[in-house]
Amino acid sequence: MSEHASGTSPYTALDDLEFDNRFVSNLPGDKEQGNYCRPVEGAYYSLVKPTATAAPKLVAYSDQVAELLDLSAQACDSDDFAKVFSGNQLLADMIPFAMCYGGHQFGNWAGQLGDGRAINLGEIVNQGKQRWTLQLKGAGLTPYSRNADGLAVLRSSVREFLCSEAMHHLGVPTTRALSLVLTGDQVMRDVLYDGNPSLEPGAVVCRVAPSFLRFGSFQLPASRGDLPLLSKLLHYTIETDFPHLGPPNNDTILKWFAEVSERTLTMVIHWMRVGFVHGVMNTDNMSILGLTIDYGPYGWLENYDPDWTPNTTDSGGRRYRYGHQPQIAHWNLLQLANTILPVIEDKEGLEFILKKFATDFEIQYQAMQLAKLGLESQHDGAQFLVAELLALLKQVETDMTLFYRQLASLDLSNLDSKTTQAHFKSIYYRQDELTPAYWLQLDQWVSKYKLRCEAEGVVEGDRKDKMNAVNPLYVLRNYLAQVAIDKAEQGDFSGVEELLSVLQNPYTEQEGKAHLAGKRPDWARDRVGCSMLSCSS
Ligand code: AMP
Ligand code: MG
Repeated sequence: MSEHASGTSPYTALDDLEFDNRFVSNLPGDKEQGNYCRPVEGAYYSLVKPTATAAPKLVAYSDQVAELLDLSAQACDSDDFAKVFSGNQLLADMIPFAMCYGGHQFGNWAGQLGDGRAINLGEIVNQGKQRWTLQLKGAGLTPYSRNADGLAVLRSSVREFLCSEAMHHLGVPTTRALSLVLTGDQVMRDVLYDGNPSLEPGAVVCRVAPSFLRFGSFQLPASRGDLPLLSKLLHYTIETDFPHLGPPNNDTILKWFAEVSERTLTMVIHWMRVGFVHGVMNTDNMSILGLTIDYGPYGWLENYDPDWTPNTTDSGGRRYRYGHQPQIAHWNLLQLANTILPVIEDKEGLEFILKKFATDFEIQYQAMQLAKLGLESQHDGAQFLVAELLALLKQVETDMTLFYRQLASLDLSNLDSKTTQAHFKSIYYRQDELTPAYWLQLDQWVSKYKLRCEAEGVVEGDRKDKMNAVNPLYVLRNYLAQVAIDKAEQGDFSGVEELLSVLQNPYTEQEGKAHLAGKRPDWARDRVGCSMLSCSS
């Protein structure tokens, strides 16, 4: 152990991290220790070590996440850092394991899934007594890898690393990312699943969250009728992550479900606010803490299109399209309710919570949409205004992010059609759609909006600040991530660093960063990685 003078100074060496490994010490583990694929019953994890890699090399780390773990810059800049967070070196107190869970994939029960390429290094308790689980993604085969390789490529790892941090700074509940490390190995991937595989650089992200438990963690024992095992996890979760609910019993389990439901709702409302599309809302990708988890073929709305999904694997049914995310969250919660029903036998209680999700959604969604406009009152006229605006945004290809920023800076005290046109013109994708009829509709809407602002006593000077606090200027546009990835694949990590830094202040205009706030360029419209993503990662 290196020295740290007081209890609160950051650690200068990784060895100083305090692991308590509560998950493995409190829950039953797999008796079998071999690293081969198998059904794992009666257990929540299998002990498994990360696979050594050829030449670990640090690409980037988040100093803010390091701070959460009490790690100093010295610790993060040490040679050990890349070795530990690529899985090449274990700290003395780490007990690595892969978690066992199941899930509904695209609406169908898929049975046992588990951490096929995620390996938890253990849980640390920081000096402020906060618990953080450290998890490597892409660190090699586990008993849950099924027919896949347990690895991740740089492309998808850059996307996960940047987006988790960007989401946090947008105010969206999410798992965090400490680091991004190249493994030095090459990984074979067929990006479009069209029979054209190629080698890509391998990488590992270290994800950080209080817990990585998913809806599917609870579903799997229930699907096998193993209620004692399910009860153990319910009790563990309540005691560890929901202690404010009181000692676990049927009553607190119901309260717990209510809180999971509320947190999930909050998360989805935020997604809708910032234009985020998760892409794979399977129940194994739903965090029990209501965190955005598992950044795969996610995307950001550019032109406002509620039917858009970035995930080419889902292009047929578009189950996980932007506008469908709240319904899917509800459907996933219904699966979780069915899971705990045999334990608490309170159908009415569970149904009440599910109904409440639907009514709360309507209220919170409206409030969010109004806040985007700088409004508050749930007046009928205001609701109508929101509905009209969303129809307008859809009618012609309008950049969602830029529209709200432009609306914030439009001077409502001095409106005329020509000025409005000039003010908004650059945020549309297809100039040929901007007919006189469209402009007339926009003018009419803006006039109604102005009246509404006046009726609510919104002061013109305050409106912009209020709106800009909830409508980001910088989001991780699909093409921006791809440009940073292209550079990183050539060994230039400056694009990753720049995005990591700018996305820490997404609501504030930053000097010299206009190139990260622009609408999607034409070349990116149909490019793989920009508008089309698959689950291949
Ligand atoms: P996802 O929908 O990407 O979260 O993944 C679904 C399941 O597939 C999870 O159990 C993952 O652990 C597993 N999985 C995805 N990619 C890989 C991979 N390259 N190697 C092993 N397992 C994987
Ligand atoms: Mg997953």
